[in-house]
Parts: sequence; C-alpha cells; structure tokens
Amino acid sequence: MPLTPPRHAPPDPVGELRALAARHAAVSRPRDECGVFGIHGHSEAARITYLGLYALQHRGQESAGICTAQGGEQFVHRGMGLVSDVFNEPILDRLAGRHAVGHVRYSTTGESLLRNAQPFCANTDGGPVAIGHNGNLVNASSVRRELEGRGAIFSTTADSEVIVHLLARSRETTLEERLIDALSRVKGAFSLVMLTHDGLVAVRDPYGFRPLVLGQLDGAWVVASETCALDLIGASVERHLDPGEVLVIRRGRIRTLRPFPKPDREAHCIFEYIYFARPDSNLQGGNVYAYRKELGRALAREHPVGADMVVPLLDSGSAAALGFAEESGIPYETAIIRNHFVGRTFIEPAQSIRNFGVKIKHNPIRGVLEGKRVVLVDDSIVRGTTLLKMSTLMRQAGAREVHVRISAPPTKAPCFYGIDMPTRGELIASGRGTEEIREAIGADSLGYVSVESLRSISAQLKHGHCDACFSDEYPVPIQPGGEPPQLSLFRAVAENERDEGPE
Ligand code: AMP
Repeated sequence: MPLTPPRHAPPDPVGELRALAARHAAVSRPRDECGVFGIHGHSEAARITYLGLYALQHRGQESAGICTAQGGEQFVHRGMGLVSDVFNEPILDRLAGRHAVGHVRYSTTGESLLRNAQPFCANTDGGPVAIGHNGNLVNASSVRRELEGRGAIFSTTADSEVIVHLLARSRETTLEERLIDALSRVKGAFSLVMLTHDGLVAVRDPYGFRPLVLGQLDGAWVVASETCALDLIGASVERHLDPGEVLVIRRGRIRTLRPFPKPDREAHCIFEYIYFARPDSNLQGGNVYAYRKELGRALAREHPVGADMVVPLLDSGSAAALGFAEESGIPYETAIIRNHFVGRTFIEPAQSIRNFGVKIKHNPIRGVLEGKRVVLVDDSIVRGTTLLKMSTLMRQAGAREVHVRISAPPTKAPCFYGIDMPTRGELIASGRGTEEIREAIGADSLGYVSVESLRSISAQLKHGHCDACFSDEYPVPIQPGGEPPQLSLFRAVAENERDEGPE
C-alpha cells in the first residue's frame, strides 16, 4: 500500500480514520452466542458457577468469567479460553461470597479481546453490579452513539455494555428498577443475569429469544441458560422463566415482575432446538434431542430415498439421523468418525494436505461405505463447505451414492438475535434453489425439511418461535441494510479454507 495517496485523490485523513475505525469495529465486534449462570445463597457459589459454566461450554468457548459478591465487595475473574483453562483452585478460592454470576462467550478465530469477556462489572451509586448477557441487541449501535454523544466512554466493543451504561445513568431508585429502565430502552434478544451486593436478578426478553431456567440447590436459587447446567450440579429444575419475566432474588426470597409491554407474539429461537442447545437440555417447549429426532422423522417422510444406510454428520446430525432411520427403516451407521479433541489451533504440515480442515475433524470408514448408497444427515447447510467436503470424502472412501438430507429448511437469512451466521450473500441458500445447492455440494440428491413441516412440528412446543433464518421474517425489526453482528467465526473459517478447495 503506498504511503502517500495518489495525486488525483485528495487526502482525507478524517475519512480514512473513520473507515479504519469502522473496519476495526466490524472485525472486533463480538459474537453473542453465550451462556449465563447465576446462584444466590450458596456457600460454594464460585465453584458451583464454575461447574455450571462447564456444562454450558458449548454455548461459548472464547472466554469465561465469574463474579461473586460478599458484603459490599465484588470479586471477579475473567479469561480467554475454555472454563477449565480460565479457572483453577486458587482462583476459585479468591472468589469469595455466597452469590455469583458467570458467563461463557462463543469462540472466534478472528480478534479475541479479554476486555469483551463478561460478566461486565461496574460501580454505580447504588453499589457494584455485574452483568452477564446472552443474546444480541438490534439497536445497540444507535443507543451507543447516543450515549457517547452524551459523554459515555465505552471500554469494550460488546453490545451488552450499553445495558451497563443505561443502568448507571438511570434515575430509578433500586438497582432492579434501573436495570428494567435500561432494558426497556434496548431492542432484541436478552437473557441476562445481574449480581448486586446482596441479590441476583434474572431477566428474559419479552420475545423469549434465548432460554433461561430457574432451579434450586441446597436451598439456594440457581439460574442458567440450559437445564444441562442444573443437571450437572444436581439442582432441581423449578421452571423456565417466561418471556418478559424479571426475577429478583434477595435474602433467599424470590419476586417476579413483568414490567415490559407484552409483544404480539413470542419468538423463542428455533435454532436453539435445531443446533445450538445441548440435546440433553429441556428448553421451555420440551427436550431438544426428542425435537431433533422428530425433525428427522419428518425429513424421511418429506424426502424418502432408497439407500443402504443413514449416516449422521456428528454431532450435529445425530438425533435427526436416528429419527430418519427409524421412520424410513434404513439402518443407522456411524460411518463417519469424529475426533472429539480438535482444539482451537493445530500445527499443519508445511505442504498443504487436501481438505485438511474437514479431515482433522471427521473421517469416513472405508470398510463400511464401500459400494453403498448413503443418506448423509446434518442439521443445516450454511455456506455449503462442510457438506461439499464430506460428500467428496465419502465418495473417496467408496460410497456409491451420497444423498444429503437436512433436518431444517434452507438457511437463507442471517440471524440478528444472537446466532453466529455469515452475511446473507455467503449463505448458500440465499438466492439459490435446492437443485443448484445439490450440485454445489456434490450430492446425488438433496432434501430439506420444509418451513411448513418445521412449523407444524414446532407447534407442539406450545410457544411462538423465531424462524427468521429460514423464513426471512424477523419478529423484531432490524435496521435497514443491517449486517448480522456476528461474523468472526465464519469469516475466519472462510479465510482458512480458501486455499483448500474440494478435490
Ligand atoms: P457450512 O460448512 O458453512 O455449510 O456449515 C455447516 C455446518 O456448520 C453444519 O455442520 C452445522 O451443524 C454447523 N453450523 C450451523 N450453524 C452454525 C453456527 N451458528 N455456528 C457454528 N456451526 C454452525
């Protein structure tokens, strides 16, 4: 890049700085797939929170943090990496107190920043608070600009920090009233825990995009993103928070508030059921594993095919593949083996190996596949990269036919409420029909669950849901021309894979 601008372009240092800042913001913007946990009134609050986060690790692998409260003091530890890397015995010993909140944030292979790690802590004139947030706010940038215009100084690039600033500036009296005041200014998805010097507040946004569940352990109250966290610590599952519900827990007592206007519908994220939540979790509408299996059955009815075996793409396709096999009567075979120990980085050989990225994670079994017609089941196709590589590897391992079945409709629109997705243009199903996608992924046939079928199965969940990624119908309006706020993983993966290409 030339150091001096070409003569015909007058220098524009302000414009350049702005562009640089915008590029930096786009790259460093954190993704908001996260897990939250909170406990009130337990002698081992920090340790229990650590275990809760451990069970929620699938919701976020970039950073983890725990904040505890004792007397008027707060103790916090946050770090980059997995829960087990971030905490150890001495650190947990230092996190004193009977109340705690914890947070895990999703991995990015783009820019990772410790300052974006949560819980966010702030000293307000009402005392210290710590906030952990799961979800994505669709109006965060406009609220942030407004607050910066009034002198607020942000220390992170995280959307969630606007909640802390709004709370600090609120004129309401108690901290829970201030939080409610702050949350009534933001739009989008939030399942949130807030620790004060003597209490725990848990809030689910009025649409109910992200899950949040209440439990009890040895007389202490516990809140967590998913029930799998309560299972691990041996807590009872009391109930799921309703959309729009605020729980205030103080001195062992629990109070429910419903301060937000009720929207015309609920919008629980259907992708939590399809991909994101752990299959052993029960979300508000039921068990995730059972739901996925049901989708697999519907898929077999909608797109039957003559084949010798049904093979899941592990782990995301396993429950749906079982449902498909049961419904179709075609035997289920785990003909692709997954390496469960693939870390965030690995050392590649100097000479590039074809399809290294996919091979290090999945390897087909030649002896099982040789000469066979295979139904390969996964939960979604995003850019088509994984399935193109898998269908190629399966043919190389001897499969005669590879029929791809997807236990969800085509992913054609980005998520603005907290699931990581590439831009609309990068989604293979945006503007392409099934036949074109089939050709692009090298499959003999391709079938998706239809939106109608998804909706009829989801009606059994007995709550409204958001399926914007499949239907392009957004329950909370997004800013015109807006890009999804979470791009880092898919962007980084795309960059890593650019040179590999299929064979
Ligand atoms: P792609 O290779 O881009 O088509 O991505 C498809 C694979 O990514 C499938 O195996 C999905 O299970 C998985 N997947 C779908 N959505 C996400 C997400 N939001 N984050 C990470 N992986 C995802």
